Amino acid sequence: MKILVLSDVHANLPAFEAVLRRAPAHDVVWSLGDIVGYGASPNECLDLLAETGATPALVGNHDLAAVGLLPIAWFNVYAATAAGWTMLQLTDEHRFRIRSSFTSEETGQYLLVHGSPRDPARDYIQTLDDAMAGLEMISNRHLLCGHTHVPMFAELVPGEPPRLLPIEPGVPYPLAGRRTVLNPGSVGQPRDRDPRAAAMLLDTDAETVTWIRTPYDVERAQNQILAAGLPKELASRLSHGR
Ligand SMILES: [Zn+2]
Repeated sequence: MKILVLSDVHANLPAFEAVLRRAPAHDVVWSLGDIVGYGASPNECLDLLAETGATPALVGNHDLAAVGLLPIAWFNVYAATAAGWTMLQLTDEHRFRIRSSFTSEETGQYLLVHGSPRDPARDYIQTLDDAMAGLEMISNRHLLCGHTHVPMFAELVPGEPPRLLPIEPGVPYPLAGRRTVLNPGSVGQPRDRDPRAAAMLLDTDAETVTWIRTPYDVERAQNQILAAGLPKELASRLSHGR
């Protein structure tokens, strides 16, 4: 089975559309949360996610804040402004869907979380130590997380020290014989200084994982953010991938 793994779409419709349009052939979509927040198209992105039939489709801290399930005071000023704006935009149907979704789910060998197993909505896995602590807390072989907006590939091979691997998009990396922590990066607000939308393809038959980077119409997303009256910083950062 081929699985397209997405995270942190953040209401960026041009990026989300480009990723889906140009994604390699896949059987299912898994989403690691934060469909809304920051960007200008929360309802459109939630509709598009539903069209993909994504299962599991997790929620993240920004989704929860937009329905009042996490305090906005926890955010910086830009994120808080966007969360307040998103709260006013969401349809009842979407509000209900977010409220009835989980921040972590497991499927076979894979545990999916938005942040980390310790606090699935909010905690960050940013370092090799964070990744190994996450693996220690679970019995699944692989941990899939988002939230940092930075792609990560950490692996634990029996008898060898754990390590972080450099990620080259388009290269299939083996998953057999190891435990891993995998972060696809962010579709709608990448923060690894590469402005292209990020995603990941898991192939459970070949037991490989491949990162994908997709160029999209950044200017269109920026214009939508400005037209919505959201902070201009949320638009400008998309040019720099940070
Ligand atoms: Zn996010």
